[in-house]
Amino acid sequence: MLGLEGLQALIEALAARGHDVIGPVERDGAIIYDHIAGIADLPTGRTDRQEAGSYRLENRSDDALFGYAVGPQSWKRYLHRPIETLFRVRRVGEELAFDPPRDQAGRTAFIGVRSCELAAIAIQDRVLQGGRYVNTEYGARRAQTFLVAVNCGDPSATCFCTSMDTGPRAGGGYDIALTELLDGRHEFLAEPGTDAGAALLAYLPTRPANEADWQAAHDVTDRAAANMKRHMPGKGLKEALQDNPEHARWDDVARRCLACANCTLVCPTCFCTTIEDRSDLDGQGAERVRRWDSCFTRDFSYVHGGSVRTQTRSRYRQWMTHKLAHWWDQFGSSGCVGCGRCIAWCPVGIDITAEAAAFVEGQE
Ligand code: SF4
Ligand code: SF4
Repeated sequence: MLGLEGLQALIEALAARGHDVIGPVERDGAIIYDHIAGIADLPTGRTDRQEAGSYRLENRSDDALFGYAVGPQSWKRYLHRPIETLFRVRRVGEELAFDPPRDQAGRTAFIGVRSCELAAIAIQDRVLQGGRYVNTEYGARRAQTFLVAVNCGDPSATCFCTSMDTGPRAGGGYDIALTELLDGRHEFLAEPGTDAGAALLAYLPTRPANEADWQAAHDVTDRAAANMKRHMPGKGLKEALQDNPEHARWDDVARRCLACANCTLVCPTCFCTTIEDRSDLDGQGAERVRRWDSCFTRDFSYVHGGSVRTQTRSRYRQWMTHKLAHWWDQFGSSGCVGCGRCIAWCPVGIDITAEAAAFVEGQE
């Protein structure tokens, strides 16, 4: 068991071992992930209220440090960067000199990774490192990342991890997992998931967990699971989507969808990128960058002379059928981990669970 001073010692120990420590902080009305030096930087006594198309922060009646669900950012921005310079090229006389990117991967520690986010990182590991074409920049960062998970006690109304089998309790993929206990005390049950996690915990001020501590920790995640309000239909969904490319629901959702791409940018598993070349105005240098792209943009499907998905209907269909159906064929899992971000951050409140339900109900 770790007390508050133990959590502070954990953050300091990671920093002392050369990690850039990133954790949840409150910024501009939302909880995002940024550099932290200690527990004073965490959003104390704050929680989020999320619904389709809405997100706001409120005070809690206690001093919980992790009393909220996921915000608009995911850890994706630190592992699979929004913009990545692949190389720079300079004119040197009559020759060209190629420079590697300046941004080299360093040791990083993530504090407060939720169970759905561990699942999302595992999916990105599979997509970006597990196949024939490896994203070396992602791999270099991932190899140096220490993960401190926090089990969820307060899911938002947009969460549906239970139906995706990704939470609210972390099942693996972390170095240390914490459960925040606020039942008349403020402590954390800390579980090591790797040798590195165990070694770090051995160095911190802890006391052994007793049976009551374990029960209290399980009660936290059991309550969270019982409070989950949304669910993704499972049975028959893949087939219902793959068998219905002309379903009337695609027209229905296209009338509401703005093709703004918010859902893909907030999604912790969406991985698509494009490559751009940028040249200096003086003609002496250029750089090649990779940046996040979205299947909701017209240019995303541009093929020799035109876009093959000119309508919002076909772009939404591409996104949802890839995420919930074709992903199984391609990567052996769903592309959705049930974090609910695309529901809260859709400006018109389109809810992927409701859209999916419309297809499954249509099959019955
Ligand atoms: S599709 Fe939506 S709910 Fe599923 S992982 Fe992506 S953002 Fe989260
Ligand atoms: S579903 Fe919502 S967030 Fe996604 S592109 Fe359409 S309007 Fe934007």
